[in-house]
Parts: sequence; C-alpha cells; structure tokens
Amino acid sequence: MNNRWRQIKRLPIPVSKYFDLYFNEQPDPPCPVCGGKVWHRHYYDEHVGMVETVDECTECNYYETESYGDTRLEVGKWSAVYNYTTSDKEISQIRSEFVRQQIIEKERRKTERRKYYRKRG
Ligand SMILES: [Zn+2]
Repeated sequence: MNNRWRQIKRLPIPVSKYFDLYFNEQPDPPCPVCGGKVWHRHYYDEHVGMVETVDECTECNYYETESYGDTRLEVGKWSAVYNYTTSDKEISQIRSEFVRQQIIEKERRKTERRKYYRKRG
C-alpha cells in the first residue's frame, strides 16, 4: 500500500468525494503551505446570512475558519483566534504572523521530506 492511499484513508471525507476534489477542475487557490487542495465550506443561516466559512487543507494542517464572528487560524503547530472585539492593529499582527508561519511550515515540511528520503536511502 503506497503513501498516497494511506493519506486518502486518513481524510475525514468519503473517498469518492476526495477523488472528485482531486481530479475535477480546481478553481480554488491551492494550499499556501503544501500546494495541496484546500477544501472550502460555507454555511448559511436563513436569517443571519453567511455564518461560517471553513478553508481546510486536505493534506497538511493549514486551516482557517470564521464562525459567528470568531476567526481561527491554524498552520502546523501554530494557531490563533480573534473576533470582532480584537482591534484592527492586533488582527493585522495576527494575519502577518499567520503568513509568516505558513512560510516556516513550508520550509519545515521540505526539510522533513529530505530527511525521509535520506532514511529510505
Ligand atoms: Zn496544505
């Protein structure tokens, strides 16, 4: 059994759905960390409108969700939360840290892959 198949089995979505995402046209931008497919979900409330959006990478820990005014950002082992009470200045600091962490995680994954191949000979 190869790694690709193991990855598919770990996904929290049905395999058939994964193949749809993987092989169909992908108009959404790829994951900024690993270049993988980012899974977008939106939830609507008929009274409030858009109440929740989720951007989740299917291959790494890149995760961004907005739910009733709370925003949660995750990449690798880093995570942050802010909401409508957070000042604009803090939000922009968190957002720029989020981008910085994406770059760190990208580099970390590269190094890890190199180690893996070295071990396997
Ligand atoms: Zn990713």
